[in-house]
Amino acid sequence: MTYPGFADSNIRVEKKREWANLITYSEKLADVLYDENHPFKPQRAKVFLELLRRYNLLDERFDRVVEPQKVEEEILYLFHEREYVEVLKRAELGPDLEVLKRGIGTEDNPIFKGMFDFAFGCVSCTFTCFREIVEENVVFAFNPFGGFHHAERGFAMGFCYLNDVAVVGKYFRKRGKRFAIIDMDAHHGNGTQDAFYEDNGVLTISIHESGTTSFPGGGSEHELGNYEGYGYNVNIPIPAGCDDDAYLYSFQSIVPPLIKAFSPDFLVVLVGTDIHKDDPLSNLNVTAGGFKKALESLKGTCEKVVALGAGGYSISKSPALWACAYSVFTGREVVDQFAGLIGGMMYGPELDLISFLKEEPVSGKGKEACMRSVERVVNFVKERVFPIFGLK
Ligand SMILES: [Zn+2]
Repeated sequence: MTYPGFADSNIRVEKKREWANLITYSEKLADVLYDENHPFKPQRAKVFLELLRRYNLLDERFDRVVEPQKVEEEILYLFHEREYVEVLKRAELGPDLEVLKRGIGTEDNPIFKGMFDFAFGCVSCTFTCFREIVEENVVFAFNPFGGFHHAERGFAMGFCYLNDVAVVGKYFRKRGKRFAIIDMDAHHGNGTQDAFYEDNGVLTISIHESGTTSFPGGGSEHELGNYEGYGYNVNIPIPAGCDDDAYLYSFQSIVPPLIKAFSPDFLVVLVGTDIHKDDPLSNLNVTAGGFKKALESLKGTCEKVVALGAGGYSISKSPALWACAYSVFTGREVVDQFAGLIGGMMYGPELDLISFLKEEPVSGKGKEACMRSVERVVNFVKERVFPIFGLK
C-alpha cells in the first residue's frame, strides 16, 4: 500500500499496519477547564476530532487516535527547574508566595483542579508524537494539546505551565536527533527559543506578531542565537494588521529554504491558529486560505512532521484551522459527509469548513506599511542567516 502523504514521493506503508498518521487524544485532557472565563479551552481538541470525522479526514487504514503513553516525570527536568516543578505540583493546594513568584495563580495562569496532571499529560502527548515519528513508521503526528511555548525553565507564562516542546525536544536532542521548530502561533515562542538558543541541532523559526504590539514582547529579528546556535534561532516579527500577502511573503521567503538547507530529521510545526483575523488575542489579518497556503509551502521540505496545536482562542475556528492543517499534512481533500442533508450543519455556519476555507482575504489601509515592514525583516534574515546555511 502506498500512502499519498505530505512528502514529495509517496511513502510506502507496509502491510502489517504500520500506521502513517497519529493523533494523541484524551477525553480527560479535553474536559479540563482552566477557569470558566479563561480564553484557553482544551475542549478545542474534541471539536477538532468531530470535524475530522465530519469532513472525511480520518482514514482508518492509515490514521490512529491514541491516548498518550506514560512518561517518567524525570523528563521534565531536562528543561524545567526541579524546584519549579515542585511548586507547580503543590500549587493546587492554594497560592503561597513562592507559587505566585513563579507566575502561577494569576489571571493568565490560574490555579485549577488537576493542573499539574493536565500540563504533564500534554507533555506526554507530545512525547508520544515525537517517539512515534522517530522510532516508528509514522510520518505525521498531531497533538492538539501541545505547543506550550511560553513556559520558561522556572516560570509559568501565557497559559503555559510546562513547555512540552522544550522538554521533549531536549530528550530527543540527547538521542542525537536534529529537528526544525516552525512556530506559527501569533505570539513569540520565548520559552522554546531559550531552550535551544545555543544549539545548532535545532533550527527554531518563530513567525509572530511583533512584540511591540503583542505578548510576550520579545522575539525581535536580532535574537539570532548564541555560540554554536548563532543563526539557528530565527524570528520573523510581523506588524499588527498583517494580511495574507504580507504573511505569505515573509513565511515563504524564509521558512522553506531554511528548512531545506538545514535538512532536519523531522519538523515540529506549532499550528497556532491565533494568527487568524478573527482571533480575539492577536491583531493579524491572516485568513484560513492564507494559513493553508503557508502550510502547503512546507510540502517537500521534510518527510516527517509533528504538529502541535498551540494557541487559538475561537472554540469553533481554531479546530477548523487544525482540520485544515490535518488535510494539508495528510494530503487529503476536505469533503462534507453531510452535504445536502438537512441538519448537517450541526455546528453552525461558522464551522462549515468548506466555506470557511474560501473566506475573502482582508485588504485595507496599512497594507503598504505592512509590506515594507516584512520586507525589511526578510532582508535582514537573508543577510544575516542565509549565508550560515549556504543560501543567498
Ligand atoms: Zn499565541
